[in-house]
Formats: sequence, C-alpha cells, structure tokens
Amino acid sequence: SSSTDTLLASIRTIPDYPKPGILFRDITTLLGNAQAFRRAIDELVHPYAGRKVDKIAGIEARGFILGGAVAHQLSAGFVPIRKKGKLPHETVRVAYSLEYGLDEMEMHKDGVAPGEKVILIDDLIATGGTAEAAVKLLRQIGADIIAACFVIDLPDLGGRKKLEALNVPVRTLMAFD
Ligand code: IMP
Repeated sequence: SSSTDTLLASIRTIPDYPKPGILFRDITTLLGNAQAFRRAIDELVHPYAGRKVDKIAGIEARGFILGGAVAHQLSAGFVPIRKKGKLPHETVRVAYSLEYGLDEMEMHKDGVAPGEKVILIDDLIATGGTAEAAVKLLRQIGADIIAACFVIDLPDLGGRKKLEALNVPVRTLMAFD
C-alpha cells in the first residue's frame, strides 16, 4: 500500500555499521519525516484504539521515542526499560546475551502493577534477544503483555518466532530480508 511505501522509503540503510557486513536500518530518517512519523504511530496504535491498555513499555533508546507517542495516543502510561544503572528507584534486572558477551537491562519494580495490560515497543526486532529479556522483566512483576510492536522486522533472524513461543503476539510494520 502507499502507506507502507511511505514508511519503507523513510528508512535509511547504512552499510557496514556498526561493523563490516552489517546493514543497519536507521529510523532517524523516519522520525525526522513528519508524515512518516505520524503514519508509523497511527499504524502502531490502530489495533488497540478503544481497548484497555494501561502501560506502554519502551526499550531504550528508540523505543522511548516511539513508545512515548503511542502512550499519548492511547492515553496509557509509559514505563522505560533501560540499560543497567540508569534508574533511580528499586528495580528488577535481567541478563541477556549480545553478540559478544552479556548485558543487563532493568525496570522499576513498581513501573507496572500486577495484572496491568502492557504493550512492549521497540524500533526493530532482530534475534529477539532484547525483546525476550524485556518480556521476562515485565512478567517478573506481573504484567499482562498484550503485544510486542516494532517498526521493523528482520525475519531471517527469528525474533518474531522467539516471542510467539512465549505467547507474546508480535506486530511489525515492515520487514527486510
Ligand atoms: P535483537 O536483540 O537481536 O532482536 O536486536 C534488537 C535490538 O538491537 C533493538 O533494540 C534494536 O534497536 C537494535 N538493532 C539491531 N539491529 C538494528 C538495526 O539494523 N537498526 C536499528 N537497531 C538495530
């Protein structure tokens, strides 16, 4: 559709970033394009319009930008999922593997109340390792995750299947092989 084309065309691809052989999908060009940004947020939001959503959980850092706009549109709260050491109050923490080594992410223990309905948001899903860690954190504090939404899917890397195996419905706006 023309809407998908507008969104697709707004993504910039950077070869060999952050290292040789990687094709980096850069959404800053989508964010900087008023029409594309609005469309992306509208498409992320529309299945949930009129449904009860308590919180949007955004993954640092691009998930904050998208998630903030989605939260506003759905009249939901926003809760940040951050790299370790950045949040001031009591947190829950989870380790997850990156390509080289481990990292940890955390969220405030009281960021979501048990049973609250939460949508997880990030810009892109690749292997799904980052989103899986976020799902573990959210479930540790009793969140009811109704969906995980991403602008971009890299389906060859298997992230969607990883989340669906955890019974998390996944929505993405476009895919790159
Ligand atoms: P995953 O954990 O392998 O699914 O990687 C997803 C995480 O890495 C997300 O937080 C993305 O923002 C980031 N990421 C991986 N590849 C890209 C890319 O090509 N463009 C933008 N972000 C990326």
